This record gives sequence, structure tokens and C-alpha cells, in this order.
Amino acid sequence: MNILVAGGAGFVGSNFCQLLLSKGHKVWAVDNLITGRKENLDSIINNNDFSFIQADVIDPQIKDRLEEIEFQAVYHFASPASPPWYQKYPLETLEVNSIGTKNLLEIAKRDNAKFIFASTSEVYGDPLEHPQKETYWGNVNSFGARSCYDEAKRYGEAICYTYLKDFNVDVRIVRIFNTYGPNMDPKDGRVVSNFVTQAIRGENLTMYGDGSQTRAFCYVDDLIRGFYLMLTKDVTGEVINLGNPGEFTMLELAKIVNKKVGNSSQITYQDLPQDDPKKRRPDISKAKELLGWEPEIALKDGLEKTIEYFKTVVK
Ligand code: NAD
Ligand code: UDP
Repeated sequence: MNILVAGGAGFVGSNFCQLLLSKGHKVWAVDNLITGRKENLDSIINNNDFSFIQADVIDPQIKDRLEEIEFQAVYHFASPASPPWYQKYPLETLEVNSIGTKNLLEIAKRDNAKFIFASTSEVYGDPLEHPQKETYWGNVNSFGARSCYDEAKRYGEAICYTYLKDFNVDVRIVRIFNTYGPNMDPKDGRVVSNFVTQAIRGENLTMYGDGSQTRAFCYVDDLIRGFYLMLTKDVTGEVINLGNPGEFTMLELAKIVNKKVGNSSQITYQDLPQDDPKKRRPDISKAKELLGWEPEIALKDGLEKTIEYFKTVVK
């Protein structure tokens, strides 16, 4: 298949391009490099089945620029994703998930391609239901530090719904829960990249709040396997959580990272950011049922691979 991957130079997108190439597909990665890195593509850039196009998906010309290729699938991973970065680029985040999603949906409509949108567990906000099922509508602040991201993704889902209902575009939505692994940017400010980078440098780990808040961490290879199934299984119009249901407090995470790296430094406590969700864990029964998917890589094993990667990039 010819597959367009928007956000292909980012953490998840670059891992996914590698997977698609290994399955024999032809891949076009479009990325404006606002938070992504060209070096994430080093291992595939010379592959004849891979093309990198540096472009912004909010550009009104993007559909015309890609008119010579007929795509069978369009994956939309383009968006700043870590809280520090979407807060640094709030307008860009709002626009890539609204205008950018519309532009990419137009390409899918033109080519009769499947459209897979990378949404997020942030659509559940600071959840009042636990674990989170796809049927939960969320508890989101529309006017705060995280709203440029949360509401943009909610808009992205809504425009996917409209293109499905009004134009019959074959849309499929994944709500990604916290994912980690190789090709994460050590500077993106997420908890795994911060803790691992700090531990490798022998520094104290920065804990926001008292560390009792929870997250559930999915290794990237598990996630991208699920994203591939979103293409091959019959899931038109479905919204599916992908994440690892293993739930950890940030204090537990800090302890595991320090132990794996052999860091004897301590923890420095800082203020909890505004609207930071207190707990998060996916209910993945729908992914199990419709995709036959569940994660296989435990946190301690995924962290080992991630630490190896970070050791090669952290100075
Ligand atoms: P990332 O920042 O590493 O990758 C995003 C990529 O999109 C970057 O390469 C960036 O340069 C590119 N991009 C942003 N705006 C663009 C634009 N206007 N035009 C072209 N390219 C643009 O983030 P990631 O962790 O790989 O996340 C990928 C997707 O998955 C995002 O949509 C994110 O919201 C979603 N997601 C990720 C996680 C996670 O834990 N990694 C969790 C939930 C949702
Ligand atoms: N966090 C932390 N120290 C850090 C970075 C993040 O304690 O150096 C906390 C953050 O406040 C949140 C959790 O770790 O409670 C996960 O943060 P991340 O930015 O990775 O993802 P998100 O909040 O979007 O789930």
C-alpha cells in the first residue's frame, strides 16, 4: 500500500514508519519538524520505499503537493504531544489538530483511503471514571493550560466523525495512553524522558506534586503493532483505546528508573502543574475484542530498552 504518515519524524511516527516499511509498504512521511527530529529517520531515509517531505499539514497547498500519489491509508500523528511543548506551541497545536486534520481528511476523501487519527487519553481529562473506557465522555477543562491540546484532539475526533457521516471517509480513531521508547526526544519534558535523562546524568529526579498521581505506560512497539491492526482489521468508525493497563504512581516510576540506571540520587519535589490528571489507566477490552491486541512488554523490560536508547543520545 501507499501510506502517508503525518508527523513521521516524531517519536511514534518514526517508529511506525519503520514498521510499515518492514511490512513491505511504501511510506511518505510529512513533517514540519516543530517537535520531531530528522535523525529519527536515519535508519530508513535511504530506503527506496521511503520518502520524507518537510511540510506543514496546515498548509492549504498540502493536498495539491501530494496529488501525484494515490494513498490507501493516511495516518495522522502530527501534533506537539508533551505538555511543555504543546504549551510552548498552543496555536500550532490547535491548528494541526483542526485545520491539519481537515486537510489530511481531504486527502483521504480524494483517494478513498483509510484515515487513522492519533487521539489521546487526554480527551478524558482528569477522569472521574477509572479505568477509562471509550464510552466515557471525560472531565476536561476547556479554558486552561492543557486545553489547547485536549480540546484540539476532541475537535479532531469531531471532524473525523463528520467526514465519516457526511462524506463516508473510512475513519478510525486511536486514543493513545502514555507511550515511551526509543526516538523520544530527551528534551520533550515528559516524565519518562525526564527521569531517564536525569538518572543517566546522575541528577535528582524532578517530581511534580507528591508523586501519588498515576499513569499507565505502553512501550512503543506494542502501540505501533496496535496502530497497524487499525489498518488491517474491520474497524471503520471505531474509537479504540491503546495503552498498557499496568498503572504506576510517579514515585514508583522514579524508583524503578533509578534502580535500572543505578542512580543513587534523590528526588526533588516541584509544584504540580495546573489540571494535571490524578490518575489514568486504559480499559482495553475493546482493543482486545476488535483488534485481538494487548500489550506484551512490561514496564521494566520496556524501560531497559529505553534506557539503552537514551544512553546513546544523552550527553
Ligand atoms: P512527537 O512530538 O514526537 O511527534 C509529533 C510529530 O508531528 C513531530 O515530528 C512534529 O514535528 C510533527 N508535527 C507537528 N505539527 C506538525 C504540522 N503542523 N505539520 C507537520 N508535522 C507536524 O509526539 P509523539 O509522542 O510521537 O506523538 C505522536 C501523536 O500521538 C501526536 O498526535 C500525539 O498527540 C499522539 N499521542 C501521543 C502520546 C504519547 O504518549 N507519545 C499519547 C497520546 C497521544
Ligand atoms: N511529571 C513529573 N516529573 C517530570 C515530568 C512529569 O513528576 O519531570 C509528572 C506529570 O506532572 C504527570 C506525569 O508525570 O503527573 C506524567 O507526565 P507527562 O508529561 O509524561 O504526561 P501526561 O501528564 O501528559 O500524562
